[in-house]
Amino acid sequence: MRISVIGCGYLGAVHAACMAQLGHDVVGVDVDEKKVALLTAATAPFFEPGLPELLAETAATGRLAFSTDMAAARGATVHFICVGTPQKRGENAADLRFVDAALDALLPHLQPGDVVVGKSTVPVGTAEDLAARIAEVEPAATLVWNPEFLREGFAVQDTLHPDRFVYGLPEGPDGQRARAVLDEVYAIPLAEGIPQVVTDLATAQLVKVAANSFLATKISFINAMAELCEATGADVTELADAIGHDARIGRRFLNAGLGFGGGCLPKDIRAFMARAGELGADQALSFLREVDSINLRRRVRMVDLAREVCGGSIVGRRIAVLGAAFKPNSDDVRDSPALSVAAQMRLQGAHVVVTDPEAMENAERAWPDLRFAESAEAAAAGAELVVLATEWTQYRELEPAHLGTLVAERRILDGRNALDPAAWRAAGWTYRALGRQ
Ligand code: NAD
Repeated sequence: MRISVIGCGYLGAVHAACMAQLGHDVVGVDVDEKKVALLTAATAPFFEPGLPELLAETAATGRLAFSTDMAAARGATVHFICVGTPQKRGENAADLRFVDAALDALLPHLQPGDVVVGKSTVPVGTAEDLAARIAEVEPAATLVWNPEFLREGFAVQDTLHPDRFVYGLPEGPDGQRARAVLDEVYAIPLAEGIPQVVTDLATAQLVKVAANSFLATKISFINAMAELCEATGADVTELADAIGHDARIGRRFLNAGLGFGGGCLPKDIRAFMARAGELGADQALSFLREVDSINLRRRVRMVDLAREVCGGSIVGRRIAVLGAAFKPNSDDVRDSPALSVAAQMRLQGAHVVVTDPEAMENAERAWPDLRFAESAEAAAAGAELVVLATEWTQYRELEPAHLGTLVAERRILDGRNALDPAAWRAAGWTYRALGRQ
């Protein structure tokens, strides 16, 4: 099939390459000239495991092209909308201006029979508005919603082998025809038996934000338990193991620590609350305000803990922060808990040095005032405190005895409960973590 993918960021670039991998003829369109130039040269514009290989492979087939000109989307039957929907400045609501601009640019190129597929995460009701705008210009085109659940760090695998496909369709024959088109797009993964949920537009839009709200709630739940553990001397990691054995609860997403960040969960739960308010259903989601607060409190607690282990003040202290990305295996620093803690400590007078295996460039752009070092060892040199803020494998595997020879003081804060306390203490470190003694 001929496919256009509009918006080639963390979602769209991977989606475009994966669609080409499935055998389709794909053009990715983005307004960012630099990104398009890199993608055209089969170079990944961001760190995502497996993407460079996939781009090289698909570029060689001639089935994958990129452009800054929306006219390139003309002639494609399926148009995936993958542009960003960030939080509005100073408000909880989602900023839909990129979605609106993408559709405005696409409208003149739509042809009868085209299917426009929304993948961006949007407030419920957005799809209906877009469908109405499409109907005015090209009544024989159909809008459907097909939310995306990929995880950064596993984006290629998640796109080619997702947990489920969700199709939100309009009623009637147009919806059924669009369903058949999507089935053709996803024929290969569907043949693997991946579950498919076919529903209406409103449900499909809600599924995505409901899923992210649930995940955020699970993380904040265990972090609330961590607060209780801190108050009682209990151990949150053992508590999580114990409750996680219950299959109804499950152990995944129960890792207490610095909490969630990134370009999705924080802004999605806030936009969901804002939309619920507009719909007069704000009470239904008032718990998400608490989920958000618990999450942000962990960052404050981490800075407090740093002050505590440094003997009451971090002013003038050399602190190494390991990790800048919001999670391992990504270079995404949007709303990163690691950088938020690093910046807070710097503002409170510490001499902070941050390192990250992949996210340094993005981190320096976002926080030019912070100091950066190329490696964990370089960051730790002379440090009076080391903070593990993003649990990259290379940080989990750091040798306590070796790192101990580099620092000025053997003090470590494990912001992700990712290290073995016994091993670090045995090497003479003061080890502290969130939610445990
Ligand atoms: P991103 O910021 O990495 O990418 C968005 C891209 O859209 C950018 O490259 C930008 O230049 C481009 N763009 C903006 N306006 C455009 C226009 N008018 N025409 C063409 N391109 C335009 O964001 P992302 O992380 O890829 O997220 C995109 C959407 O997908 C969001 O709604 C997000 O919530 C959702 N989503 C993201 C993930 C994820 O893990 N990143 C997962 C699921 C869903």
